[in-house]
Amino acid sequence: MEVTPTAGQRQAESIPGDQPLEMTPRPALWADVPDEKWNDWRWQMSNRLNSLEELQQVIDLTDDEIEGLSAEGKFRVDVTPYFASLLEADDPRGPVRLQVIPKGSEMVAFDSMMADSLSEDAHSPVPGLVHRYPDRVLMLVTTQCASYCRYCTRSRVVGDPSANYSRSDHEAQIEYIRNTPQVRDVLLSGGDPLIMPERMLENLLSSLHEIPHLEIIRIGSRVPVFLPQRITDELVDMLSRFHPLWLNIHVNHPREITPELSRALAKLADAGIPLGNQSVLLRGVNDSPEVQMELVQKLVRNRVRPYYLYQCDLVQGAGHFRTPVAVGIEIIEALRGHTSGYAVPTYVVDAPGGGGKIPVMPNYVISEGANRVVLRNYEGFITTYSEPDEAYQRDDEHLRKYLEPKAAQENIVQKGVSGLASGKHMTIKPEGFDDVHRRGREAEVEKRGKRNFEDDYN
Ligand code: SF4
Repeated sequence: MEVTPTAGQRQAESIPGDQPLEMTPRPALWADVPDEKWNDWRWQMSNRLNSLEELQQVIDLTDDEIEGLSAEGKFRVDVTPYFASLLEADDPRGPVRLQVIPKGSEMVAFDSMMADSLSEDAHSPVPGLVHRYPDRVLMLVTTQCASYCRYCTRSRVVGDPSANYSRSDHEAQIEYIRNTPQVRDVLLSGGDPLIMPERMLENLLSSLHEIPHLEIIRIGSRVPVFLPQRITDELVDMLSRFHPLWLNIHVNHPREITPELSRALAKLADAGIPLGNQSVLLRGVNDSPEVQMELVQKLVRNRVRPYYLYQCDLVQGAGHFRTPVAVGIEIIEALRGHTSGYAVPTYVVDAPGGGGKIPVMPNYVISEGANRVVLRNYEGFITTYSEPDEAYQRDDEHLRKYLEPKAAQENIVQKGVSGLASGKHMTIKPEGFDDVHRRGREAEVEKRGKRNFEDDYN
């Protein structure tokens, strides 16, 4: 594909330790678009590519991609001109291209495929609000994105403008948070919150900011990646009025870290917004230690902390992107110790059926003996750590004395396995366990007292 140098290729500001940055070269299709328009996020949004004919002007489509783009009922396609400039025009296996251009294979069903693999709808007390974890909620504020990822976990709702959340949905979500004092953290997601009209987003943030028990607001957004032009000074000023506000972006491959994205990130970081990155482990895109190493190091240089690396969900359309879990473990093995700890994300499997994120990692504990634990490091060096000889006992009552009153209410925490580790409970039993093991001895149970058969975890 011909790439025409434009005025946009001028030198731009640099980040420390780096060469001066340039603008991403534009395909010939947009060579004559004045910079003023190109850098206007509204122009980018209204000139997104979504049809076979439009995309064909930028890349040579394969038969598989033509099949994907022509498929009935496919997940929405839209690509901003800026992001389309990153597509590998001559390589159908290009890592950016794979993320946004549909293929026929995404319509193929696979074993365990689900529409709502994280059971978000089952954890939703009001439309768009997911309360899965004890102290935090996910607030889906829009179904719209700047561009659409082929592996999207929420493809069941995302992209459909007729399924968008209304003002009354937002009010119901906020009301739920207001009435649920254990919620101290809200994550705004969607869809993409930064695609919303600025005034609407500001009103939402303002209402949330006024809730006394809400300690932090987080936003999950791929807008800086798909549409860095949207990160205007005005938007950043508005966001920075709602501290503590955290922002997680979503970059999967180092090629997505362009000069434009770097400048957008610098603006956000300069405004005091802590930045994290969530990426998805995608076959053919970033499923190698080398790609991940370059990605996390580039993120850290841009003041973005790699936060999660997700195992690809069992969601419709994502089958061909999935890798064995062993690939994620291999990647963490190659990162941990080999680069800064700050640069190593937590690799998680988001449990199908709604179990939440489960961290998975290489095993560094090799064995345990009396008062001794045998560990290995990232190089394979094996050592022992000697534990205290005296019996370990913790005085929780005393430790609690110096905490804020809220944290001292131990009952706000769901205990789970940590309840077993702390000795507060003895077992957690699967549903129906007691019935199976009574095996018709109900009368005997009655006589001995029910206690023996009760779930200790209740
Ligand atoms: S930006 Fe996020 S919500 Fe939007 S399509 Fe991509 S993964 Fe889905």
